Amino acid sequence: AQERYASLRGLPCETLCGTRVGLHMNAGLMADLPSLEGSGAEGVGLFRTELQFLIRNQVPKRGELAALYARVLDAANGRRVVFRTLDIGSDKVLPYMKPQDEPNPAMGWRAIRLGLDKPGVMRMQLQALIRAANGRPLTLMFPFVAQFEEHVQGRDHVLRALDAEGRLGHPLPERVEIGAMLETPSLAFAPRQFFEMADFISIGGNDLKQFFFAADRENERVRRRYDSLNVSFLSLIEQIVARCAEVDTPLSFCGEDAGRPIEALCIAAAGVRTLSMRPASIGPVKHLLRRVDLREARAVIAEARASGAQSVRSAVVDWLVRQG
Ligand code: PEP
Ligand code: MG
Repeated sequence: AQERYASLRGLPCETLCGTRVGLHMNAGLMADLPSLEGSGAEGVGLFRTELQFLIRNQVPKRGELAALYARVLDAANGRRVVFRTLDIGSDKVLPYMKPQDEPNPAMGWRAIRLGLDKPGVMRMQLQALIRAANGRPLTLMFPFVAQFEEHVQGRDHVLRALDAEGRLGHPLPERVEIGAMLETPSLAFAPRQFFEMADFISIGGNDLKQFFFAADRENERVRRRYDSLNVSFLSLIEQIVARCAEVDTPLSFCGEDAGRPIEALCIAAAGVRTLSMRPASIGPVKHLLRRVDLREARAVIAEARASGAQSVRSAVVDWLVRQG
């Protein structure tokens, strides 16, 4: 199977109906970088910057981070890298951070909430990213944005950092994109202005699903109860697709489901055109997507929905089996 996927490496991910789906990889450690060449990924759709913070026993220094980020951009060799600003708190507790005694850490003081309330580390990280870009394009996104205002404030921090770096004489990125992760259902209902302001949106399906079904992603018992191909969840994804399309904002999906071929197929059928996944999933996802017609997939999904099915999975699997 590995060989079969290797032979797909240079081929585009294009469905039988001619739809291109961008396949990018998720990363976070330097050890992930060789996969950029090996997997055939078009870029890094999610670089989880907190991993560099989690493997240390103190906050990394700005210079050290800038050097690491520069190595990531060097390895990407012009391909797009989406740096997600620190997503700590919840399941990602830094060993050197004062533990917060929170009853519900996943819904607690985490990610951009922490970044906005105590902006010191985020500012330092933004400076490191700008210096690492050293004139090259820079793509950033904020984790766990739950309302428009959080995106506005995060973006203001980026604009201020750019201004300050420029005044210090550092070369500014040729272009800066500032996106938001959509991982709380609330953001799908944000004002139109949010969708206009965001340079792109990436669905964090792991968290989005957890909060949509109120089912802890770390708790096997409840997690397995709700299929990602549940018709309600697919409707939410379609609504997000529609809201982004209305204002021409690029949309991607970077949760674990993007790397599962059947899920990836249904997410693409819902209208998402960029997926980001662990590198080893790129081959299997591309293999399936190149063999399907999304119009047929949409018809199968619509029929399953009309029948009152809770999940479209068995209908999609049956259809794929019939296709051989
Ligand atoms: C997600 O929530 O889907 C996501 C990609 O972020 P993480 O898994 O790091 O929370
Ligand atoms: Mg998340």
